[in-house]
Amino acid sequence: MTQETRDVAIVGGGLVGATLALLLGEAGWRVDLFDAGSRPDEAATLGEGPPSLRVSALTAATQRLLTSLGVWPWLAARRIAPYRGMAVWDAEGSGEIAFDAEDVGVASLGTIVENDLLLAGLRRRLDDLPSVTCHFEARLTGYRRESGVSTLVFDDGGSYRTPLVVGADGGRSVLRGLAGIPVSERDTGQVALVTSVRTELGHGGIARQAFLPTGPLAFLPLNVVPASNGDPLPGNEASDHHCSIVWSTTPGEARRLASLAEDDAGREALARELEAGIGDRLGQVTVIDAAPHFPIVQRHAQRYVDEGLALVGDAAHSLHPLAGQGVNLGMMDVAVLAEEWIRAKKRGADPADARILARYARRRRGDNAAMLAAMQGFQRLFGSAQPALRLARNWGLGGVDRLMPVKRLMIRQALGESGDLAERCR
Ligand SMILES: Cc1cc2nc3c(=O)[nH]c(=O)nc-3n(C[C@H](O)[C@H](O)[C@H](O)COP(=O)(O)OP(=O)(O)OC[C@H]3O[C@@H](n4cnc5c(N)ncnc54)[C@H](O)[C@@H]3O)c2cc1C
Repeated sequence: MTQETRDVAIVGGGLVGATLALLLGEAGWRVDLFDAGSRPDEAATLGEGPPSLRVSALTAATQRLLTSLGVWPWLAARRIAPYRGMAVWDAEGSGEIAFDAEDVGVASLGTIVENDLLLAGLRRRLDDLPSVTCHFEARLTGYRRESGVSTLVFDDGGSYRTPLVVGADGGRSVLRGLAGIPVSERDTGQVALVTSVRTELGHGGIARQAFLPTGPLAFLPLNVVPASNGDPLPGNEASDHHCSIVWSTTPGEARRLASLAEDDAGREALARELEAGIGDRLGQVTVIDAAPHFPIVQRHAQRYVDEGLALVGDAAHSLHPLAGQGVNLGMMDVAVLAEEWIRAKKRGADPADARILARYARRRRGDNAAMLAAMQGFQRLFGSAQPALRLARNWGLGGVDRLMPVKRLMIRQALGESGDLAERCR
């Protein structure tokens, strides 16, 4: 049976799709959110015990968006890890660059948040909104647009007619494919392995990344003591001995490292490799979780919009995790899209109007393209064994480290404060 969705259908209820549902739902829009996954369990124990494997480094701009939606205070009362410094170095040479929040007069450069906790925070707020309906175990399998109406078909046989549809269904977006939107794809040749560790020395609220010959290895600071004392700031003696690992490397290496995490002896060996990779900066390392890995494919949809359709988040662009920007860019997409749509509706315009959709694409595409290009350049520079490029990156890192105005500019970029942001992110 075909049902009517009301104002908009969002396909994909990950971090980005759920945030868009909240933005539009809060403005009174009637939203149907469809996700292929099952309804998540109650979030009662999230943010307690060992850290989750998947985390995201969120920028100040994303934090402002989540604060405006009432999600941030709930997260902060559970478990977040703001970091005040970043250290990035070339493991093959002498180049190193360090950033400090104090350099630009802010308290932190960003915050590490566990993905499942953030999603639970978003869904909790969605449950409060009567105008938003979440459909779980609803996998999109069919799509067509005719006479100003889209029909969405799901794997349970249900179908929905909707005036507006958003693809938030991730890097391998089914909706993007069904709508015939071409995508530029570049396999980076790297795979990201993630795990969690305990470290002998405290991380001190510093995010560290070493560029190894096979790819970057990041130790992201975590704060595993529940922040019930209201003081989740890094540097807290009791809480700064855990890190989330993102190790981008060759597929063969990733398979070997992942298999080490399968038993105690292997985990010991993996820990020694992590210690060596990070140059022994955090003392003895203990691996406390499994080590799954994910292929890293950079994708950019050739168009973000089509008739009555917009792509957001990884469905529009996915990039190397080395700068921790994927979720952040997706959040900036949905903040801009919601801003354009809500404004349009207020002045009586049709949100499906091609000019309004084009404005969303114009405001986001340039920033996202610049970030994709930067990640590609970084990977090329640091992935090269050519002596000239090695020299250039060591001079580059050392030189930039001494140039405060350039460093300040880079910090502003890391804070997510550049580009044409939506008002609630500024
Ligand atoms: C190792 C690693 C580390 C990372 N670290 C960071 C970081 O520190 N900071 C950062 O900003 N980003 C980071 N990223 C990137 C980030 O994880 C992604 O950019 C982000 O998850 C994209 O969110 P999304 O909601 O667009 O897509 P997804 O998270 O992929 O969500 C898509 C949703 O769509 C649903 N779906 C899929 N197909 C269908 C269908 N056919 N029908 C219905 N529903 C469907 C899925 O169930 C899912 O819920 C990292 C990525 C990796 C791999």
